[in-house]
Amino acid sequence: MRIAFLGPPGAGKGTQVDLVSREYGVSVLSTGDAFRAMMKREDKLAERVRSYVEKGELVPDEVVFEIVKEFVDNKDSFILDGYPRNLRQAELLDDFLEGKGLALTGVVNILLDEDEIVKRLTGRLVCPQCGRVYNIYYSPPREDKLCDDCGVPLERRIDDEDDVIRQRIKVYHREMKPVVDFYQRKGLLFNVDGAGDIHEVFERIKKVLDGK
Ligand code: ADP
Ligand code: ADP
Ligand code: ZN
Repeated sequence: MRIAFLGPPGAGKGTQVDLVSREYGVSVLSTGDAFRAMMKREDKLAERVRSYVEKGELVPDEVVFEIVKEFVDNKDSFILDGYPRNLRQAELLDDFLEGKGLALTGVVNILLDEDEIVKRLTGRLVCPQCGRVYNIYYSPPREDKLCDDCGVPLERRIDDEDDVIRQRIKVYHREMKPVVDFYQRKGLLFNVDGAGDIHEVFERIKKVLDGK
């Protein structure tokens, strides 16, 4: 199983990919998580990455692809969360994987309308220690704003602010149309309705992935 998950910010990619990874025993690379880990450092690269992420812009393709290449290299099973984000990234990945004879086996495209996206993102809270993701509306922690597992205060992501959310959605729509067409032409694209509760969405995804 070599799968990429697409979908607008807040569609539930991270949440679903966690479940898929556990169900099928496949390892995941979330490029967003990789950048958030990187931004905790104080070096030049961290600073460079932060300058894009905090504005809701895409990090340059070359920087992202270095991380992706290292992760997928010679794996016969993997899941990508948040990659590719534009046509060039899709083509870079495609060339690399085809060269190894390990092309993607499917692309899951999670669909969600804008009002619901904004609600999910404004409610998102993340544990700075373990990375567990909560939502103040849908899946709040047991104790007010503390991680159930670690007990530390939960945080908002630096890019889950109103104006940055809107910018990310804009960038998504601008960049992703050709990516969706690219995978559609290859017969790899599977659209999944991202509305409804987490387990309903997961059931839809499992139907797509069984046999991939
Ligand atoms: P979301 O929850 O919005 O889907 P991610 O956690 O995937 O967000 O990404 C957060 C930010 O990290 C993006 O807005 C972008 O700045 C950067 N990023 C993540 N993946 C990529 C990528 N494949 N290419 C360029 N930038 C990326
Ligand atoms: P993405 O990785 O696509 O940005 P996340 O998985 O981080 O999305 O989900 C965004 C927010 O929405 C999080 O706060 C998460 O807890 C919440 N969420 C995810 N899936 C659902 C769902 N099916 N119903 C309600 N809230 C959800
Ligand atoms: Zn935690």
